Amino acid sequence: VASRALSNVALNVPSCGRIYYLSLEFYMGRTLQNTMVNLGMQNVCDEAIYQLGLDLEELEEIEEDAGLGNGGLGRLAACFLDSMATLGLAAYGYGIRYEFGIFNQKILDGWQVEEADDWLRYGNPWEKARPEYMLPVHFYGRVEHTAEGVKWIDTQVVLAMPYDTPVPGYKNNTVNTMRLWSAKAPNDFNLQEFNVGDYIEAVLDRNLAENISRVLYPNDNFFEGKELRLKQEYFVVAATLQDIIRRFKSSNFGSRDPVRTCFETFPDKVAIQLNDTHPALSIPELMRILVDVEKMEWEKAWEVTKRTCAYTNHTVLPEALERWPVTMFEKLLPRHLEIIYTINQRHLDVRDLDRLRRMSVIEEGDCKRINMAHLCVIGSHAVNGVARIHSEIVKNSVFKDFYEMEPEKFQNKTNGITPRRWLLLCNPGLAGVIAEKIGEDFVTDLSQLKKLLDFVDDEVFIRDVAKVKQENKLKFSAYLEETYKVKINPSSMFDVHVKRIHEYKRQLLNCLHIITLYNRMRKDPSKSFVPRTVMIGGKAAPGYYMAKMIIKLITSIGDVINNDPYIGDRLKVIFLENYRVSFAEKGKTAKGVDSLKLPPLPAGGSVNRDRSPAAPAQREATPRTEPATACTSLLCRYNAREYYERIPELRQAIDQLSSGFFSPKDPGCFRDVVNMLMNHDRFKVFADYQAYMECQGRVDQLYRKPREWTKKVIKNIASSGKFSSDRTITEYAREIWGVEPSAVKIPPPNIPRE
Ligand SMILES: *Cc1c(COP(=O)(O)O)cnc(C)c1O
Repeated sequence: VASRALSNVALNVPSCGRIYYLSLEFYMGRTLQNTMVNLGMQNVCDEAIYQLGLDLEELEEIEEDAGLGNGGLGRLAACFLDSMATLGLAAYGYGIRYEFGIFNQKILDGWQVEEADDWLRYGNPWEKARPEYMLPVHFYGRVEHTAEGVKWIDTQVVLAMPYDTPVPGYKNNTVNTMRLWSAKAPNDFNLQEFNVGDYIEAVLDRNLAENISRVLYPNDNFFEGKELRLKQEYFVVAATLQDIIRRFKSSNFGSRDPVRTCFETFPDKVAIQLNDTHPALSIPELMRILVDVEKMEWEKAWEVTKRTCAYTNHTVLPEALERWPVTMFEKLLPRHLEIIYTINQRHLDVRDLDRLRRMSVIEEGDCKRINMAHLCVIGSHAVNGVARIHSEIVKNSVFKDFYEMEPEKFQNKTNGITPRRWLLLCNPGLAGVIAEKIGEDFVTDLSQLKKLLDFVDDEVFIRDVAKVKQENKLKFSAYLEETYKVKINPSSMFDVHVKRIHEYKRQLLNCLHIITLYNRMRKDPSKSFVPRTVMIGGKAAPGYYMAKMIIKLITSIGDVINNDPYIGDRLKVIFLENYRVSFAEKGKTAKGVDSLKLPPLPAGGSVNRDRSPAAPAQREATPRTEPATACTSLLCRYNAREYYERIPELRQAIDQLSSGFFSPKDPGCFRDVVNMLMNHDRFKVFADYQAYMECQGRVDQLYRKPREWTKKVIKNIASSGKFSSDRTITEYAREIWGVEPSAVKIPPPNIPRE
């Protein structure tokens, strides 16, 4: 099947700007089933494999996840690739082919233990090495200013080997490319100036260069500031920009005269989207190429760069913002540091000195640092947040000064997910029931789900939806019983909270809810409770102490509750080990359970189940109880002890944690958790406790009325259409990249064209 980027040229399609999505993470998961779904050949393959005496589901389970991401940011990049191919955009994903993806999580004695993710051990059938496109990337060295211009010399070179993975669109005869770079030492690495005479040492030292693409940093929303990570960021940027410019020059977009390429048209043909600040070096690197190599005038180069680049902000958490020490930067990328200083001087035209200091790319202080977010805002023509509320915060707090100066730059692009993987592939039962009512067009136009509102009173439909859910739950119960040796009540409410473990993601609030339910059951044994199976899963960054304590807390609470004979199967707490993309799917395979990305829980009752990347987005569509944290301003102080003293059930739960009720073998185990919650909880968990308990109470009441529950499920599904990544990408295309997703029909490859 022809590559879309090529077929645009071949078919003489007007257009065609190429879209480059740069990301340090592509959390792809498995590829086999997704490929069959998008090519519309699942049934054919199923039949063929069956005739060979094999089982397709069994084969699918053998595939390793491509776990080249941490969480939402990396999965978003993967969903975007699917949508861009499906919408027929000439789009490329560019990233790093990490030899080790996100670690595998083992739970030992209730604690997280990490294991290396050697996903390439048995080879990767979906990738193709392209040594003919290998490119050099330079590091270190020094800068020489001469009459002919600026030279970056005496550098160390690492080679970037591209590996291409096909990205098929959904039944549209289009296949795009994800190109991931792998680091390769040059054959003369360390043999020339260093280690002369020590050939063996020099060969062993090749590892130093090749370590660049060795491993994904396992931090979610946290900036670690390691030199190897900065090398990774420049590595992907430098290789990708060379590739982009080679492609720009080789197409006749540049100029009729191949000698003097006209870079003024570059932004009309090339759009670079920066997935967070991780590939922010694209801005100074493009400036370096245009000014130092292509000899373009600075001001012209700056216009080209700005019109080419756009920046997506993912978080406002201060600890997540990239601020590289100038000293480290200067050693590794001396020319880029100069360029950043010049950008800062020439393109930050601010009189007010205090404002200038706040907006500077260079932060003064005992350690001078480069603020990568500021660099991105200054060097991009568009800046977007990823949910309505988030984009408002971006404008009104973190980038307030920049917004006041250039308000037209700031946009919102609410995240979405691909309905192919997250509905068709992982919940074919539900997709089938929906298709029976509204046809199959919702697969590429998810807004059509709203037609389901016509069927909220359709008894057959209500029954069918309930049946699909019940079947999924039955399968999942069997899997849980087998895996965790816990007796599950399949008709209990499945309360699932899966995402990276982080204080801001509120797993501790969930724990307090569970403990409170448990205490209520023990206090009033004869009262009727809505049975619940609470499942919490997610990885903790290996160096994040509190996140690891949270995992130990969840497993400890489970140990006590799950073995309490007075509780029976009315309340179970299970930690889902090694949560990852293929686990999030768990649809048609033996494991069952509804998609964790689309909304089965009723709107308004969606308390802790804020599923994502639609999670923050969902709240846009759904009226909810205001969180008790009305005080979001810095001036409003938060006094945890006040809540602790005022709310008896909260106090009891905290006292149990303090006394070792849930950790009899180590009573002091949760001392630090309690101390954090009571004395320095940045995320004000106690302030939400009451509203959260009340909301969960309403969820319980609704669950007692299965028909009403299912009707709300249907309404919720009907209003989830906005959260398709097709809608998100259509907005990026029109409002940031200046391209129109084309409805051009590419003919199937085996039918000859006229
Ligand atoms: C979707 C997804 C995430 C992101 O979930 P959030 O709730 O937005 O944090 C993380 N990990 C995996 C495996 C996912 O599929």
